[in-house]
Amino acid sequence: MAKTKLPCAICHGELLKDEAQFVDETTFAFYQKAPPIEHGIYCPTCFDSLVRPELDVYNAKMERAKNVNIFSLAQSKESQFVRRIERPVTVEGCPDRQEAELRLAFHAVEVDKNSLVDVELSSEKIKIGGRWQSSVWSGRGIPVNIDEEILKRRFANNPN
Ligand SMILES: [Zn+2]
Repeated sequence: MAKTKLPCAICHGELLKDEAQFVDETTFAFYQKAPPIEHGIYCPTCFDSLVRPELDVYNAKMERAKNVNIFSLAQSKESQFVRRIERPVTVEGCPDRQEAELRLAFHAVEVDKNSLVDVELSSEKIKIGGRWQSSVWSGRGIPVNIDEEILKRRFANNPN
């Protein structure tokens, strides 16, 4: 089996090519701040003991993000009872609306909130090679906590 050129980033042990585990810019992509684990190549032992627990935390946050309640700016009347304490979170440069929304939701989870209010999403066409080709999405919202019971009562007929 071929050896990789690089050793494990933590224990510096030499790695067989098929046992190298990679952490790259896609691994913890949704974190606002620097990821807990540096990009690099890890051996299975170091990966399991150090990287996997962080991945589990990240994936759990992602699951919560998928369940964040999102209320648009247009719904601010319905959500006006919600206290807005947190600073707004923003995202930009997202390839589509879904990712912009999910990234906003992830940032809400990062500050331990279950909902976003006053959410605005917008897209902009960008030029690639002189031609209008693709859209990039940006967004903004305010993370808040809304009691699940209140959510059910107030928004029962108004999902999303
Ligand atoms: Zn290692």
